[in-house]
Amino acid sequence: MSVVGVTPAVVFDLDDTLYPERDFALSGYRAAVGALDLPPELASVAFDAMAAALDARGNPFDALAAAVGARIGARDGIRRLVGIYRTHFPDIRLPWPSLDILRRLRASGIATALVTDGRSLTQRNKIAALGLGRFFSPGSIFISEETGHPKPDPDSFRRIMELYGRHRHYIYVGDNPVKDFIAPNTLGWTTVALRDSGSNIHRQPLVYGSPCSPDVVIESLSQVRSLLRPDFMEKRKLSVGF
Ligand SMILES: [Mg+2]
Repeated sequence: MSVVGVTPAVVFDLDDTLYPERDFALSGYRAAVGALDLPPELASVAFDAMAAALDARGNPFDALAAAVGARIGARDGIRRLVGIYRTHFPDIRLPWPSLDILRRLRASGIATALVTDGRSLTQRNKIAALGLGRFFSPGSIFISEETGHPKPDPDSFRRIMELYGRHRHYIYVGDNPVKDFIAPNTLGWTTVALRDSGSNIHRQPLVYGSPCSPDVVIESLSQVRSLLRPDFMEKRKLSVGF
């Protein structure tokens, strides 16, 4: 990956960008159901009910209560299970395109950062489970519960520009047009949406030409490499849309 002229910095969202958030959800359901100590067949019914609710965009914990309510107990039973879901150490992995691009960026010495919304412990567990400490320095990870600035607040993006300098070519790769691209668009970054393959947790209403719109839509993170070509960086926003 050779970059001439402009020095880029590539910043990533976490959930449904570097890995499928559905995998975290299913891992959390397994942890919650596991805590109920159910007979195996009932545990399977309970897990399937939660997964079906996720796919139907319903509430998985309501589905769990409907499936095995008597085993959960009073209302704080659900609260306890939600706590287990949020704090469990997830069984998730980096997909190959994520691992590959992060390795290439690291090998090329290209600056990276992570901007993600969520609870500190939940996001820290995901970062550890995915092994992202190899690719992002501690000072380049911005988690909204820690910063107090969830997207679309520009604070974390501004801090990254202070970290790496204002004259870089900044790229933000995310998935959610509702909040991911507004602040980096305002700051003059190139914004890149990874297209939903069909299993994203949040819907992806992609429209052209709004302040929420990404500059580019890619089908795979492996395409980030082509965004770092000098000719692309010079022509960005002039000719590339979707
Ligand atoms: Mg996301």
